[in-house]
Amino acid sequence: MKTAVFSTKPYDREFLQAGAGAAGHELVFVENRLREETVPLAAGCAAVCAFVNDVLDGPVLRALHEAGTRFIAMRCAGYNNVDLAVVRELGLRVARVPAYSPYAVAEHTVALLLALNRHVPRANARVRDGNFSIDGLIGTDVHGKTVGVIGTGTIGRIFAEIMLGFGCRVIAHDVTPDAALQARGVEYLPVDDVLQQSFFLSLHCPLLPATRHLLDAVAFAKLPPGALVVNTSRGALIDAEAAVGAIKSGHLGGLALDVYEEEAELFFDDHSSHIIQDDTFMRLVSFPNVLVTSHQAFFTKEAMRNIAATTLGNLTDFAEGRVGANEVR
Ligand code: NAD
Repeated sequence: MKTAVFSTKPYDREFLQAGAGAAGHELVFVENRLREETVPLAAGCAAVCAFVNDVLDGPVLRALHEAGTRFIAMRCAGYNNVDLAVVRELGLRVARVPAYSPYAVAEHTVALLLALNRHVPRANARVRDGNFSIDGLIGTDVHGKTVGVIGTGTIGRIFAEIMLGFGCRVIAHDVTPDAALQARGVEYLPVDDVLQQSFFLSLHCPLLPATRHLLDAVAFAKLPPGALVVNTSRGALIDAEAAVGAIKSGHLGGLALDVYEEEAELFFDDHSSHIIQDDTFMRLVSFPNVLVTSHQAFFTKEAMRNIAATTLGNLTDFAEGRVGANEVR
């Protein structure tokens, strides 16, 4: 079966190609993001493989369907960029990779939290520049602090467990509390209470209409002064303009992002020779207490191997007429 693999980088090619031949799949690697203009690149492909910043809205899905595509293999867990109503209307099928390495994402979250709290990137830049002053680099003990976790599913649960290991008080909010975490001492509270009590706050809930701009100006104001926020979930959970305001006022102590509301135009590509047009993003990265990585929380060898194996398995299920366990219903 022929599959067009959109948003392909060399590392995607490496891991997917390793198992494709044996599984009988012909993969057509496309560097472009999937969007209306690039749909023709999937001509003759029964399946399309897409990633987090590909566009799978009504017009794109209709155009793919018209060209003969019947199956969409998301090589990620989230599918907030897929218009499921149109998928159902057209009789398309979508599968995803529900879990590839939740540890990868939870561990990157901890890396961001620690790096932000202890100013690691600034300290490293100073030392490289021959400046060994530690003035302005003071941090806070993580041990004993209250850590708030919004969304304690696959990734949030592991993050919460790691923070328990640091000796933190962990509080959480989720529409479905996790009894095992509660038994380990995690307290579930209404979202406002989590905001008001968290010195460190980490977001791990999905992007849904109900969670869009979960952190807006009102929510930032509820955090304790000096609080540090980490987001490795989805960019639009945070109103980026409101984040700029919260940092400028000094109320928010720091922000670490692996995802950004308008990341699709920036992340995963080299823009170092271009003038970046997103003023909000440029304002954010100009602050000394804002740390941004380019949606790389998932990026470990283990996760890439699992993404490739599950994606090829999902394609095989479709090719052989099975409805696999990873199909989105
Ligand atoms: P999951 O579905 O296992 O867990 C999500 C949790 O959020 C669930 O427990 C759910 O009950 C809870 N939730 C739903 N609505 C909520 C609400 N309104 N308030 C609070 N909690 C709510 O998902 P996961 O695999 O743990 O992934 C979490 C997020 O991380 C997703 O948005 C995913 O897209 C993102 N992610 C990011 C990366 C990365 O590289 N940065 C990689 C993988 C996943």
